[in-house]
Amino acid sequence: TMGTMQGWPLLVWKLIDHAALNHGDREIVSLTCEGHEVRTTWHQVQGRARQVAEALRGLGVNAGDRVATLAWNTHRHVESWYGISGMGGVAHTINPRLFEDQIAYIANHAEDRVLFFDLTFVKLVEKLAPRLTTVEHYVLLTDREHMPADSSLNFICYEEFIAGQNADAPWTELPETAPSGLCYTSGTTGNPKGVQYSHRANVLHAYGACMGDVLDIRSETVILPVVPMYHANAWGVPYAAAAVGAKLVMCGPHFDAPTIANMIRKEGVTLTLAVPTVWLGMLQHLESTATNLNPLKRVVIGGSAAPRAMIEAFEEKYGVDVCHAWGMTEMTPLGTIGSLSADAKKLPRPQQIDLKCKQGRAIFGVDMKLVDDEGRELPRDGVAFGRLMVRGPWIVGSYFKGDGGNILDKDGWFDTGDVATIDHNGYMQITDRSKDVIKSGGEWISSIEIENLAIGCPGVAEAAVIGVPHPKWDERPLLIVIPKDGAQLTGAEVLGYLEGKIAKWWMPDAVEFVDSIPHTATGKIQKTALREQFAGYRLA
Ligand code: ADP
Repeated sequence: TMGTMQGWPLLVWKLIDHAALNHGDREIVSLTCEGHEVRTTWHQVQGRARQVAEALRGLGVNAGDRVATLAWNTHRHVESWYGISGMGGVAHTINPRLFEDQIAYIANHAEDRVLFFDLTFVKLVEKLAPRLTTVEHYVLLTDREHMPADSSLNFICYEEFIAGQNADAPWTELPETAPSGLCYTSGTTGNPKGVQYSHRANVLHAYGACMGDVLDIRSETVILPVVPMYHANAWGVPYAAAAVGAKLVMCGPHFDAPTIANMIRKEGVTLTLAVPTVWLGMLQHLESTATNLNPLKRVVIGGSAAPRAMIEAFEEKYGVDVCHAWGMTEMTPLGTIGSLSADAKKLPRPQQIDLKCKQGRAIFGVDMKLVDDEGRELPRDGVAFGRLMVRGPWIVGSYFKGDGGNILDKDGWFDTGDVATIDHNGYMQITDRSKDVIKSGGEWISSIEIENLAIGCPGVAEAAVIGVPHPKWDERPLLIVIPKDGAQLTGAEVLGYLEGKIAKWWMPDAVEFVDSIPHTATGKIQKTALREQFAGYRLA
């Protein structure tokens, strides 16, 4: 027999309808590519999203069709996003930091029919257009005044596109399992693969994200997602914010510390989220300008591990609660959250920070386990480390168009490609990505742990650790360091700093100083490029 409750499909347009009806005047503040600051509300965004939906129907876009965006975080991007999935389309957020070849590849692979894009990308789109074999319409996210005069392409002006459309037009009724969004992984090896989110996954993820011990989003929360919507849906924030009517602050094309700090103070931001590199810049800015981030309460850091020194600086110097979030594009993206348990909050501060350095505990809706290379489950003792496997209603079941074949094991677990430990309270810590693991004398060395400690050494701006070949040990760690501006630093000093903080046999065999370290389109250290750069490196 079955339960007898109603089948109310979990659809993303219900989130924005809820926000418009119950938090209609709550604001969405955006910095735009035109150089303006625009203030809208959930009510206005809902109406304009319905206009987008109607306009797309007018172009002949059908349910299930992909509509792409190449855009920064702005109100227009949020409107297009809800409008696309609200008419049954699939919002394909493209990361503009990918290489041009990759953008062309994924737009063609997705068979995008329409492309919405920001003024920043006019030149890029003009250049790419001849290679985009399926795009029929290009919609420039601006008003008439800012349309380029001289483009050979027939760009549609967004404001004209939606003007006059019915702002009360009904959304499209769909099963909750219908696709709502599409995001490609950055594909550091091979072609990028698409993850097609369902309405159901996004709505369940929004419930999860709002929970007190997760992102703790409420109507009174003011959120500035520095993380872009093209990086795994800005970690689900624009959905979660609508679910509770939080205020959203979006910085458009601006990622620099002064602009973000200014918006935090001016708009009363209480919660912000970004990858660690953004916060490295922010801490330097606060230091050099002797300012703080009041009234900010919480910084959520994900995408890569936050170094201990960063967590300590925010917490001790600026009184901001720091919380790790771990996840991936394949997980909508949140998997774990580093908020402290009731017992952990009673621990002495240094032990609390120890826990905050871990990636956190599973969010309800995410099953996690560790396995060894033979697939045997490992103990949750905080010591054993192995492949991190996940399962849940917002975790990928297969890649778009079946790329990569069957990606789940026989019990439905997805291999994250991360190597981690889990302790008896459920705190998970990433030690490496499996392809970056350094194997020395048959044992694994965690490159991430060494990097995060090295960042704490005075004079170190950024650090990366890769394995280099060694005749006896197979591989040994090489530490690559960008010194801070003007710092006089020797390799021996950096190694001296690490001494006693890591096991002796983890000590890097050498330190190399560089001016820059390559990053991926989602802000991670590009280890493949570093390994190429240091291919043939000989340890003295
Ligand atoms: P990409 O397209 O670059 O793969 P993702 O954001 O999907 O973008 O990358 C997911 C990966 O990022 C995870 O598998 C993990 O290796 C890493 N990652 C994410 N969050 C964290 C975190 N808090 N700490 C350490 N690593 C993280």
